[in-house]
Amino acid sequence: MSNLILFWHRRDLRLADNTGLAKAIAKSSKVVGLFCLDPNILKADDVASVRVTYMIGCLRSLQEKYTQAGSQLLILYGKPTESIPKLASALNARAVLWNWDVEPYSQERDRTVIDALKEKGIEYPESKNWDQLLHAPEDIRSGSGGVYTVYTPFWRNWSQKPKVFPQDIENLASLENLTEVEQEIAQQNGTVELPSAKDLGYEWEGELIIAPGEIAAQEQLEEFCYSAINEYQEQRNFPAVPGTSLLSPALKFGVISIRTVWEATVEALENSRSDETKANIETWQKEIAWREFYQHAMYNFPELASGAYRDTFKNFPWESNEKHFQAWCEGKTGYPIVDAAMRQLNETGWMHNRCRMIVASFLTKDLLLNPQWGEKYFMQRLIDGDLSANNGGWQWSASSGMDPKPVRIFNPASQAQKFDPEGEYIRQWVSELRSFDTRCLLTGNITPLERQAVSYPEPIVDHKVQQRLFKGLYKQQKELI
Ligand code: FAD
Repeated sequence: MSNLILFWHRRDLRLADNTGLAKAIAKSSKVVGLFCLDPNILKADDVASVRVTYMIGCLRSLQEKYTQAGSQLLILYGKPTESIPKLASALNARAVLWNWDVEPYSQERDRTVIDALKEKGIEYPESKNWDQLLHAPEDIRSGSGGVYTVYTPFWRNWSQKPKVFPQDIENLASLENLTEVEQEIAQQNGTVELPSAKDLGYEWEGELIIAPGEIAAQEQLEEFCYSAINEYQEQRNFPAVPGTSLLSPALKFGVISIRTVWEATVEALENSRSDETKANIETWQKEIAWREFYQHAMYNFPELASGAYRDTFKNFPWESNEKHFQAWCEGKTGYPIVDAAMRQLNETGWMHNRCRMIVASFLTKDLLLNPQWGEKYFMQRLIDGDLSANNGGWQWSASSGMDPKPVRIFNPASQAQKFDPEGEYIRQWVSELRSFDTRCLLTGNITPLERQAVSYPEPIVDHKVQQRLFKGLYKQQKELI
């Protein structure tokens, strides 16, 4: 057996501070990167063109990094459960190593790959490298050893635990590459040139909210920690203000390590001069913890991926009005703040968090549609689409998840008045309403004639009526349980 180790990248598209890669390089100088374009994922019906475009850009940048280090990133096209063991065996590799993931599909896939590698006598990861988390799910337990299902006690425990800081990987600059013969073997066993997103059937012509690759993510983090983080607590709620980090795509694909992100917040705290600034930074840290809370939740309760967590919502009589769903998707509900948000999503592949909550509440509590419809549509559109965070956000908004407050219904008009007080965000995305008076934009108080004149739809439902309906259905379901 050779000393070749294949390092399989998945949600860790970087070389810097990569837990599993560091272990691989400590074992051998001949480490070659591997990424598998998995048709099970790429051909699923919840893939966003913008996300594939960003991912391919990150892979291109990762290839350059490997080349600079003297090695390469192999791209495989095929089912990882078959193609990875086959390639490793053909190359006579000593090991295939990787970082762990929380998602049910990944867990099952990895178990199958491990079985196949075992059979061939090829090494696999000895322990779970939780590279994308600051703390392993097993390490955050309540006093009685239970799993947290409520965020606040989770945060109290999680935030107290000492964090590991980013580590430079030793000998990263002097990796050995495959020989020419091995390169040929790799090609015969399914490796391909890195395709474009278009080659894979995904076209995204628009701009990306963040450039692909490690350098752009690092720069974005530095810029955010220098400026917007200091006012995050207040500004993060206003969709017209660039008050958040826009790091979600980079975190989704591990283009930047979570330890690097955390270290930046600790440095920002050390440099902060007032309690107010500290509170802003801590609020951002709490968002990072929400990301982990939802990943731990997905790991501990994989059934979350397929439906409601709370019994009251397991058989909820959701409506199935396709026309309402279509209007929501297209940003044509007649509710300006909802429409602005959906158009931002459709045009940029990203939506502000406040608006994600508003449109999710609208879909479930006003249109009475199944949150899974919205969850899937988000996955089909978001650059940062991530099973755990998206599912967590949708379950939170639908009141079907791990949240102590049962029924939270957002009033679109009050949300707009509070968080888009000048109507700037609405005007940016709903261009036909640009010339309207701010008060009308916020309250949605626009006459049928005025709507007709600018081809803006009538409200598809009445918020007050729907709110009552939802509450009635909820009460009924609760009584059944
Ligand atoms: P910042 O405010 O700068 O936050 C920093 C980071 O913390 C984010 O990049 C993200 O990684 C994490 N984070 C922040 N808020 C949350 C949260 N509520 N839950 C989990 N992680 C959080 N986030 C995703 O990354 N992918 C999704 O698919 C996704 N779907 C969502 C669906 C709904 C219905 C809701 C309500 C929220 C969803 N979120 C999702 C969470 C949140 O909206 C985004 O993480 C955030 O808007 C990304 O922008 P940012 O990077 O500027 O965030």
